[in-house]
Amino acid sequence: MSATRVRFAPSPTGYLHLGGARTALFNWLLARGAGGKYVLRIEDTDRERSTDEFLQAILEDHRWLGLVWDEGPEVGGDAGPYFQSERTGTYGPLLEKMLEEGKAYRCYCSPEELEERRSAAAEGGREWRYDRRCLSLGDDERAALEAEGRPSVIRFRVPDGKTRFDDMVLGPVEVDHAELDDLVLARSDGSPTYNFVVVVDDLSMGVTHVVRGSDHTSNTPKQILIAKALGGTPPTFGHLPLVLGPDKQVLSKRRGALAVGEYRRQGYLPEAVVNYIALLGWSYDGESEFFALDELIERFDLSRVSGKAAAFDPEKLLWMNAQWLKRLPVPERTDRMLPFLRRAGLVGEQLSDEERARLEAIVELVDDRAKTLADIVEQAGYFLSDDIEYEEKAVNKVLTKPGVITIIDGLYTRLTEVQGFEPGAIEGLIRSFAEEQELGVGKVVQPIRVAVTGGTASPGMFETLSLLGRETVLERLTRARKIATERQGADS
Ligand code: GLU
Repeated sequence: MSATRVRFAPSPTGYLHLGGARTALFNWLLARGAGGKYVLRIEDTDRERSTDEFLQAILEDHRWLGLVWDEGPEVGGDAGPYFQSERTGTYGPLLEKMLEEGKAYRCYCSPEELEERRSAAAEGGREWRYDRRCLSLGDDERAALEAEGRPSVIRFRVPDGKTRFDDMVLGPVEVDHAELDDLVLARSDGSPTYNFVVVVDDLSMGVTHVVRGSDHTSNTPKQILIAKALGGTPPTFGHLPLVLGPDKQVLSKRRGALAVGEYRRQGYLPEAVVNYIALLGWSYDGESEFFALDELIERFDLSRVSGKAAAFDPEKLLWMNAQWLKRLPVPERTDRMLPFLRRAGLVGEQLSDEERARLEAIVELVDDRAKTLADIVEQAGYFLSDDIEYEEKAVNKVLTKPGVITIIDGLYTRLTEVQGFEPGAIEGLIRSFAEEQELGVGKVVQPIRVAVTGGTASPGMFETLSLLGRETVLERLTRARKIATERQGADS
């Protein structure tokens, strides 16, 4: 068993978006590939913005994507608690220890004073970093400020020198400490800040690898220094490139990146979403595109993640979804579509064997006209409900044509008389009718298509008519004839 331990550390202050899901996936793949553990840590210290609804959504999205966590909410584990809000007791004593060891110091500068010095620096064209005024306070001065009741924050004393780390994605990174601020570890109300808490938690949970978005790259040298100040070994880091939306701006909730749950509700397959987000920055050989989760475990390698920004293309995701849908065996595709059909009221809770077989035939016939599970509702609606709507455009374009009534009447008679109602027999009679009328088959089929589906696009007409069944077809031809008569009467 490998000792690799990774964590995904979402804040339950929003839904899991595609970028976050990619971070979760890459961490998970790293753990699975190494036979290690994937830990889910909930960073819920912002009590006002954290909600149970967001938490449940994050867990649900993990389950849906297949990212089973080894330790964390619901499953527990030896390194718990896994909610940061339940770990608050561990931070205070470590801050005290750092103060005692001179690795941190109290700073009494008020926000107003800091602002004054910051703007003075800006006016002088100087870059502002905390000027360490409080680092040099004598014991008396400090005692006087305390006696005054001055609030204080705790700052990290950044040591001199340079920090180098080998980023698993970006390669070697070097930062001169002169560029770092003596960052705040605890606010004046005593609450510890993100950079401190995350280091303490990563150390105490034995996290060996941290994979996260490149928006955190600048935090990494600080976290490495804090980890060392605490006497720990910092994890190995990897920073994932940004994901840009179609407008070349960083993907965000506001820029059309939907929450994972939204894709689920829209009928995307988890296989497709996982496959698609895996390719946001990673490629196997630059060519292969289809990877199931277990194939990803085998093939994924962080060193093949590009440091360049990845582009999110919703069209490609939809295409990939359609491809995955097509790959599912028909019974399984049907199973997954069922909830969508039920919600639309097109299918009841219980299906007889006959209904089930018919439904599978419909799903097979519709094939890749359904790009999402939800598309089946529109694509198969006319098979499952008599309540079809005739599209105005289709009616105008097709049913008002001269000769349509002759076609409808001619086929009505033949379809009434045909033996059986199989696609082959239907095809035969439509072809011979078209010949008799000296019309192309398409000319004959189109009015029938509008009559039985309400629109001008559908799967093959012979199969469609057969699946609809004689009774339904004849009833719809009658309905369409009525519409055609009314329209043509009104026009003449
Ligand atoms: N809760 C932090 C975030 O969502 C975690 C960052 C990290 O991975 O260190 O950005």
